[in-house]
Amino acid sequence: MNRWLALAHKLSFDSCHRREQMAAVIVRGGAVLSLASNHSKRYGHAEARALSRAKDVEGATVYVMRKNKLTSKPCPNCRQLLIEAGIAKAVYVNVDGHVEIERLR
Ligand SMILES: [Zn+2]
Repeated sequence: MNRWLALAHKLSFDSCHRREQMAAVIVRGGAVLSLASNHSKRYGHAEARALSRAKDVEGATVYVMRKNKLTSKPCPNCRQLLIEAGIAKAVYVNVDGHVEIERLR
């Protein structure tokens, strides 16, 4: 597994969300710009939380652990936030280790 996905996987254990633990790591040029796990619904998804903590993520890649069996893609809301923030690429892994890479621009 990619080291950033491995970091997202590790971070996802911090999540207190009961149904779907998630974590996002935003990386550019080999450096972590921001990271976050998700918490309850009220506080939002890991991607949104990580974006809210970062200033400039233009051209960065987001690595996301999404512990869901069905999907390893961003939800429509997070996809929109990632695109608006200028994230270039999204790399998602689900609980089965299935990886999906999506170019956002
Ligand atoms: Zn989302």
